Amino acid sequence: MCNTNVIVLTGLRVVKGTGEPPIENGVIVIEGRRIRDVGTQGSVEVPPNARIVDLKGFTALPGLIDAHMHLLGLRSLDMVKEPLLVPYATRVARVIQDLKALIEAGFTTVVDAGSDIGVYIKQAIAEGTVIGPRVVSAGYAISQTFGHGDTHYLPIEYADVRTTKLRGVFSVLCDGVDECRKAARYVLREGADFIKIMASGGVLSEKDRPEYRQFTVEEIRAIVEEAEAAGRWVHAHAQGSKGIVNAIKAGVKVIAHAIYIDEEGIELAKQRNVVVVPTFAIVDQIIRFGEELGTPRWGLEKAREVYEIHIENIRKAYRAGVKLATGTDFAGGVKALRHGDNAVELQLFVEKLGMTPLEAITCATRNAAEVAGLAHSIGSIEKGKVADIVIVKGNPVDDIGVLLNKDNIVLVFKEGEVVKNLVSSESRQLTL
Ligand SMILES: [Zn+2]
Repeated sequence: MCNTNVIVLTGLRVVKGTGEPPIENGVIVIEGRRIRDVGTQGSVEVPPNARIVDLKGFTALPGLIDAHMHLLGLRSLDMVKEPLLVPYATRVARVIQDLKALIEAGFTTVVDAGSDIGVYIKQAIAEGTVIGPRVVSAGYAISQTFGHGDTHYLPIEYADVRTTKLRGVFSVLCDGVDECRKAARYVLREGADFIKIMASGGVLSEKDRPEYRQFTVEEIRAIVEEAEAAGRWVHAHAQGSKGIVNAIKAGVKVIAHAIYIDEEGIELAKQRNVVVVPTFAIVDQIIRFGEELGTPRWGLEKAREVYEIHIENIRKAYRAGVKLATGTDFAGGVKALRHGDNAVELQLFVEKLGMTPLEAITCATRNAAEVAGLAHSIGSIEKGKVADIVIVKGNPVDDIGVLLNKDNIVLVFKEGEVVKNLVSSESRQLTL
């Protein structure tokens, strides 16, 4: 009789997600939902009657984490019409499909940085109704009037989720310290795991620009205080240098995009242990496919304008030692922003920043777990951590590109449970 509660993976390469070199010929002992032990063959005690799975030639990684994306169920890059014209239930059904694709690609946690679906669907995942990664969601984003989250082409009363009659609006609008506090409390009431704010203009907002600062330091500080009072943190969309600096000074923990991060921003991010999530993938894909997929002209033009500068500035931040995490900003399921293709960001970190694949993996695991607020429980293969583990055919430490092919993602454990298994059919060693 096997002790079905204990699974031992043997003979495989283990990338712990901590940045340490891989363990060759490693062993991972999974007991229930946790990792009981990990190490080299012989150094780890294998409990009697455990189920042993020989995975020679495969590589184990911690479950991958997308540190900035959106569960919006989009199927084009027309951010103007699609959210407003496609029925809500249709988008929810698409999100269910997207969540499955994410799991199959080895993503066991996602950070939903603003949507009208994430905070609600996470319950369905937790109870097992829907198969998907663990969702850590901001729910609605908080924006100032004429901010990145204000839908500039709509009448103002349609642009705030609290007053609109439309579906497909994702922001709470507020101005001044008191309104900001109230907005923060509102999104917490809706179930936000963390608070997402817009601290600068953006590429995909019609009338503003990335370098515009949005919200004052006082307004952001009020939102940070409300988040911290509820044991949570703030994740800011911040592209311009002023918006980045303001957000960090006000106590924001995660900076997304950071296109124009300057020396002051870099210094502050290092001092305060802020994680920067550049989200290259969305801009890269808009430039390649935006025209054919209906991105509005104003979005295309701004994307082309910023991309090279963005890479240059993030390269400086990386060299200066700023902590980076991988996030795609993907929002749906067509080529160019397809959930399931999220490992493309790791490849961009290697290609554009000159990282080693091992460093890129750390950005998608340990560092991304910090962005999710779950560094204590996930993000690495270590004793006592939750058993979110991905088994990959090939060696992503040699070639990060192997992660882009879903057929190479042969086995996925989420909290110790097998949620994808291509191994059993091949070797019959693992029937789970
Ligand atoms: Zn985003």
